[in-house]
Amino acid sequence: MKRTSYRLGIMGGTFNPIHHGHLVAAEIIRDEFKLQEVLFVPSGKPPHKENDEIVSPEHRWMMTVLATASNEYFSASAIEIERGGESYTKDTLLELKKIYGEKTKMHFITGGDAIAEISTWHRTEDLPKLAKFIAASRPGYILDWEKIDAHFRKATSLIEIPALAISSTEIRRRIREGKTIKYLVPEVVEKYIYKNRLYQSR
Ligand code: ATP
Ligand code: MG
Repeated sequence: MKRTSYRLGIMGGTFNPIHHGHLVAAEIIRDEFKLQEVLFVPSGKPPHKENDEIVSPEHRWMMTVLATASNEYFSASAIEIERGGESYTKDTLLELKKIYGEKTKMHFITGGDAIAEISTWHRTEDLPKLAKFIAASRPGYILDWEKIDAHFRKATSLIEIPALAISSTEIRRRIREGKTIKYLVPEVVEKYIYKNRLYQSR
């Protein structure tokens, strides 16, 4: 019997809030790369973001669980939230390797904007050894191969996905301005946001 190793996708993000751009990117990459699972990992305290508009980890966790529940391949992990402090991809990948086993093939999913930033992050030298990186095209960001650090290129795939110009920033702005966010986020997430009065003011 041929035993193939488990193909795991990992989608990290602030998910403030999670939206259909995240979900479409993860689903298309799952399909293209024949991933058996995509794990959504909301960050604890993101090191790369200003904190003023970020709702609590508990709210971001709940929205992530709600948004991913209906896809049988999607799941969510609270490891970064439970670890607390700043979230580093390397720590997350090492921890997931322990949980899922040495043989698991990890695929870290990002948008085209995030992959270019990755090589400037803290402690990234070992990342290409730990996982493959898959960067989805994102409207408004040009996926520039030259901007991806040389040691990352061999471990990175760029993939075109149907363009969804949705961002959490835009969703938060629309809520503050009293504009509709229908169809930008899953309906359960929309209801959760209004029920808990999230993002209504700065
Ligand atoms: P913010 O505007 O607050 O930065 P965001 O929409 O960029 O939010 P994040 O939580 O920062 O969402 O993103 C998590 C990951 O999802 C990143 O790798 C990002 O590049 C990717 N991503 C977010 N939106 C899209 C999209 N519309 N298409 C493809 N990738 C996306
Ligand atoms: Mg972002």
